Amino acid sequence: MIHPAGQPSLVFADEDGNITDFPDLHAAGMSGGNFSLPAQEDFIPLPEGSEMFVLPGRIPIGWDRETDEAVLLEEDPFSPGNPIQAVAAFMSPAHTTVLNAAYQTNDNAPRLPLFAYTAVGWYDGQFWTTAFRSDKDIRQDSKQFDQKKINTKTAKKLERHKNNRLIQHLGKCCLTYACPAARNFFLGRWEAPLPTSPTCNARCVGCISLQASGKCSATQDRIQFVPTAAELCEVAIPHLQNADQAIVSFGQGCEGEPLLQTDTIERAIREIRKNTDRGTINLNSNASIPEAVKRLAGAGLNSLRVSLNSAQEIYHNRYYRPRGFNLKDVCQSIQVMKEAGGFVSLNYFILPGVTDSVDETNALRSILKEFEPDRIQLRNLNMDPEWYLRCIDFDINVETTGMRSWLDQIKTEFPQLQLGYYNPSIR
Ligand code: SF4
Repeated sequence: MIHPAGQPSLVFADEDGNITDFPDLHAAGMSGGNFSLPAQEDFIPLPEGSEMFVLPGRIPIGWDRETDEAVLLEEDPFSPGNPIQAVAAFMSPAHTTVLNAAYQTNDNAPRLPLFAYTAVGWYDGQFWTTAFRSDKDIRQDSKQFDQKKINTKTAKKLERHKNNRLIQHLGKCCLTYACPAARNFFLGRWEAPLPTSPTCNARCVGCISLQASGKCSATQDRIQFVPTAAELCEVAIPHLQNADQAIVSFGQGCEGEPLLQTDTIERAIREIRKNTDRGTINLNSNASIPEAVKRLAGAGLNSLRVSLNSAQEIYHNRYYRPRGFNLKDVCQSIQVMKEAGGFVSLNYFILPGVTDSVDETNALRSILKEFEPDRIQLRNLNMDPEWYLRCIDFDINVETTGMRSWLDQIKTEFPQLQLGYYNPSIR
C-alpha cells in the first residue's frame, strides 16, 4: 500500500468551486463529529474514478502544525474576505473510508446528497484520501469501462429485446445512471442486476431509490413494475451460461425489497436452475422475512447479502424504520440461509465514529459469533454523516478505536471471515 512521505495539506474550494491546497494546515479527518490528525498510514493516493465534492455551507477544518489542534479556515487565505467551502472525496468502488472529511456546518446549510464524504488532502503533487482498498476485484474499476463499447453493446441488446421491460429498464440504468452492474450485464461479464420490487417494507432514512421527504433526492428512480419470471430469466440464463465469474443479483439500488416478490423470484430461480447450474444466484436484501429466504434457498438461491447499518437493534430500528420486522428477523434469515448451505454476506454500512465504537463492535462480534456469516462487505454509508447521526440519535462522545484498529480486531478474532466489498462468485 502506498502512503505519503509527509503529512498532506488541507484542500478547500473557493466560492466558484476551484480547489486549492493550503500548506499552512495539515488535512484533518472527522470521526462521528470529532476531529483528528490522520496518520500518514491512513492516506492512500485518491483512487482512479473517484470524484471530488465541494460541500455547500460547510467551512473546512484543518490541523495546525504548531499548536497540534483542529482549526477552522473561515476565509480564503489567498484572497482575504472571500468565503470558502470544504471539500471531500467520493471514492470509487472497492475502497472503504478510515476518516470522513472535516468541516463545520453553517446553520442554513443544505443537507448533503446520498454519497460518502471521505477526508482528502494534497501532497507532492497529488490528492491523498483516508481509506484502504477493501476488495481486489476489478469489476467496477473505472478503467474497466469503455463507453463506446458499452453504447454499442447496449443498443444491440435493447434492439434485440424490445419487449423485455426489465432489459429496457436496465438500459436506462446503464446509459443514464452509469450503474456498473447494468454496464457489466450489457458487456456480458461478472455481476448482472435483477431489480424486481417497486415496494419495500422498510423506510430507510438513507434510501437511495426513494426519498419521500423530498429534502434529499434519491440517486436513482425506483423500478415501477414487477418483471415476470420470463423477463428475469431472459436476463439471467444467458448471463449465467456465458459470463466470466457469472453472478446475477436480485435486490438493486433501483428497487424496494425483493423479498416482497418471493413468488416471482422463486419461479425465476427454479426456471434458471432448470436451464443452467453455472454461476451464482445472489439476493441483496434487508433480510426481513426468514420464511421467504428459506423458500428461495430451497429453490436454488446460492448467496444472500444482508444490508445492515448497525448490529444494535436501537440504531437498526431508527435507520430502517421497519414495517413488521426487526433485527431478530434479520439474524434469523442469516441462520436460515446458513442452515440451507448458502453463503451469507453482511453489507455493513461503514461510518467512522459509529462502526468503530466499542458498543457497535461488541454487537457486531455477537452476530458474527452466533450466526457466522461468511463475509463482510465494507460499504461506506452513503449519507450526510451529521444527518445520519441525528437520525439515529447517536452519542458522538462514545469510545472508539479508530477504523484501522477496528479492522485488525475483526481480522484477528474472526480469521475465517472474508472481508471485501463485492458479492463473490461462489460457483
Ligand atoms: S430496504 Fe432498501 S429499498 Fe427498502 S427503504 Fe431501505 S434502502 Fe430503500
